[in-house]
Amino acid sequence: MSWLSNIPPGIKNIFKPKDDSSDTLWSKCPGCGEMIFQRDLDAAHQVCPSCDHHLALAPSERLALLYDDGAYEEIELPDPVTDPLKFRDEKKYADRLKENRRKTGQQDAMRAAYGTVDGVGVVAAIQNFKFMGGSMGMALGEAMLKAAEVAVEKRAPLVVFAASGGARMQEGILSLMQMPRTTIAVQMVKEAGLPYIVFLTNPTTGGVTASYAMLGDVNLAEPGALIGFAGPRVIEQTIREKLPEGFQRAEFLLEKGMVDMVVSRADMKSTLSKLIRLLIKERRQAAAALPAAADTHKPEAAPNANKKPAAKTKDAKKAPPLDKAAE
Ligand SMILES: [Zn+2]
Repeated sequence: MSWLSNIPPGIKNIFKPKDDSSDTLWSKCPGCGEMIFQRDLDAAHQVCPSCDHHLALAPSERLALLYDDGAYEEIELPDPVTDPLKFRDEKKYADRLKENRRKTGQQDAMRAAYGTVDGVGVVAAIQNFKFMGGSMGMALGEAMLKAAEVAVEKRAPLVVFAASGGARMQEGILSLMQMPRTTIAVQMVKEAGLPYIVFLTNPTTGGVTASYAMLGDVNLAEPGALIGFAGPRVIEQTIREKLPEGFQRAEFLLEKGMVDMVVSRADMKSTLSKLIRLLIKERRQAAAALPAAADTHKPEAAPNANKKPAAKTKDAKKAPPLDKAAE
């Protein structure tokens, strides 16, 4: 803990720097308002040592934290058409893209990587909120599809770290089309019998929540993360009711059953590792049991039905595999 924590709050406020962001040695915790020595914050992977508030973690740092020895290979992502609508608001979308590419060193909001987590090969797709609010456009759709393809090819689970304001308005309807496209990417992984896990980080909202971010076999969330579709103000105005305390926060969603676990950053790797092993084991057992079950029933039943095989034979026979997205 820093020496600043021993000073009474009144005095601390007098000496509080006016512009906290200009100070690189100290950071102000948005949770408790305390000044934290940046080095302490870095050592704790951007978690406040005083109040456990989880600040944003850079994608590179998170990947290093996830993978064994911090080593991973970056998956090369396709480069879709830039600015097909020639969109312009206050700025040209093309200029906005350039600016964000320069700022983040990334081509678009999502990156994908492959490496091992406690010895098991895992593909991770990770969103950078600093790149246009982690918004979902065509590049992100391509990134999700590529990550899914690599996962299937390598027989590796796919973990997505979501952080997004939603669809990218500069791409209009094309950004909304990424909702079904990313859902297909998820379905590819699921049909290959591989685990798909989502780690929801602060904030995950809009079309991202309404597509791949809520389709995990297991949905994990970081403490305090804002997760929702529409913002609280819009909801309050629509339903004309005051929203309960902590609405749309990870803990609230856990209580309501929208999220399976709230996992602190310190436990991120160990929890993912345990879940992946558990899911792989379960899938192997299911796969081992499957041929025998399929033989005794209809031989033409979908071979990749990794749920209970006997239940909906009629529907499964008629429906192409992608129609099972909702299951
Ligand atoms: Zn704090």
